[in-house]
Amino acid sequence: MSRYPLLIDGALQDAEHYDEVLDPANGQSVGEAARASQAQLEQAVQAAARAQPAWAAAADSRRAALRQAAAVVREHAAELAELITREQGRPLHFTQGEVAGVAATFEHYAGLPQAPEQVLRDDGERLVRIVQRPLGVVAAITPWNVPLILLALKLAPALHAGNALVAKPSEHTPLSTLLLARLLKDVFPAGVLNVVAGAGEVGERLARHPRVRHITFTGSVATGKRLYAGGADDFKRLTLELGGNDAALVLEDADLDAIVEPLFWGAFWNSGQVCFAIKRLYVHESLFERLVAALAERAGRTRLGHGLDAQTELGPLTNRQQLERVEALVADARANGARIHSGGQRLEGPGHFYPPTIVSGIGAGVALVDEEQFGPLLPVIPFRDVEDAIAQANASHYGLGASVWSRDETRGAAIAARLEAGLAWVNQHLDIHPGAPKGGHKWSGLGYEGGQRGYEAFSELQVINVARR
Ligand code: ADP
Repeated sequence: MSRYPLLIDGALQDAEHYDEVLDPANGQSVGEAARASQAQLEQAVQAAARAQPAWAAAADSRRAALRQAAAVVREHAAELAELITREQGRPLHFTQGEVAGVAATFEHYAGLPQAPEQVLRDDGERLVRIVQRPLGVVAAITPWNVPLILLALKLAPALHAGNALVAKPSEHTPLSTLLLARLLKDVFPAGVLNVVAGAGEVGERLARHPRVRHITFTGSVATGKRLYAGGADDFKRLTLELGGNDAALVLEDADLDAIVEPLFWGAFWNSGQVCFAIKRLYVHESLFERLVAALAERAGRTRLGHGLDAQTELGPLTNRQQLERVEALVADARANGARIHSGGQRLEGPGHFYPPTIVSGIGAGVALVDEEQFGPLLPVIPFRDVEDAIAQANASHYGLGASVWSRDETRGAAIAARLEAGLAWVNQHLDIHPGAPKGGHKWSGLGYEGGQRGYEAFSELQVINVARR
């Protein structure tokens, strides 16, 4: 049995309690994650607070450490990817891509210069400068769907900006983050990077700690609201990446043969367990029957299996709660008159397998359409007038991503610009430019992650105004 300790103040620490993590494809044990006690959490935050000032003063060593972190991740890429696959379920070639993305993210920030200061005035009377200062201790709370890249997008800019970090991975997939912590133990000075693990209460205590100045979080809207409210006492800064209910609009001139495969992956990558997955598909009525049939055909021949099997296209859902949620949404949709064109039933056996499921005959007012499914379900809804489709797409509390599919790039982009979403695509969905700030509109989040804006989130501005005589 492998046990994964915590990283606190530069040392690996065992815990009194360990939580077993099961492989969602077969129910077998993957390993045990140390659960941080209250005292260990306190120690981690205090260690971060102690280490931060010296770290903030050493810009060159910050860049060198991030570069070294990228090298360590590349050296251990196979081990990291395999562990993500075993605890999360996604096929190995995708988790290899995730780990490569982690290394690239570290390297990207290692190559960024320090935030430049701006001089507003410099003459005989005054020197007025705007400088960026780190916030201090940052708490990073991450989810289970793409565990390491979502951590890297927080860790790299936060540390580069001169903060110290306490990270807490999801209780469903803590092992890959704890392994990363073990690998990076000697890369950063003691206390600069700390990793604690445990369920929501550990996250809640961490987020409420008065020494924590910034909370960077990816997860559910419900938890995001709690963190936002809980941060009010200390006016904590927050970056929230929350859920989505992305709409894709297929216009009458779309190239049907060309779009089936990218639509399929836009909806079902990671079995739909992605905040930016296509979760509602609005299709012009002239293409509707043909596209539903083509997607159902593609879905029906999907190879489900263990993520370590090279043939596998989609793995299991990551946990039982998610599987049960998907089953409940489909049962409710059926009761509301839905037609199921593929899938629609979990696979027998110990794993949490649910095949990609194409659904029609339902629209707004049914939970499978209105709510974020976070599973392999895609409702397909016909429209006649594109204005109507735009209105339906925007009639949501969510505003994360959206896409338009058309042979006419100009018209597609004009419609994309009218969709209420932080990321809008034309003839694709999911591809995110490395320099792009990702952020949700409406209930999908607060602030931006990635890009220059994402980096600035981890700093405060100070204006230094010097009188000269
Ligand atoms: P999901 O439903 O996708 O697991 P959550 O928002 O519940 O999404 O979880 C995302 C992360 O937030 C996980 O690391 C989880 O442990 C943590 N978490 C859950 N509840 C709280 C809370 N009340 N305060 C802080 N963190 C929390």
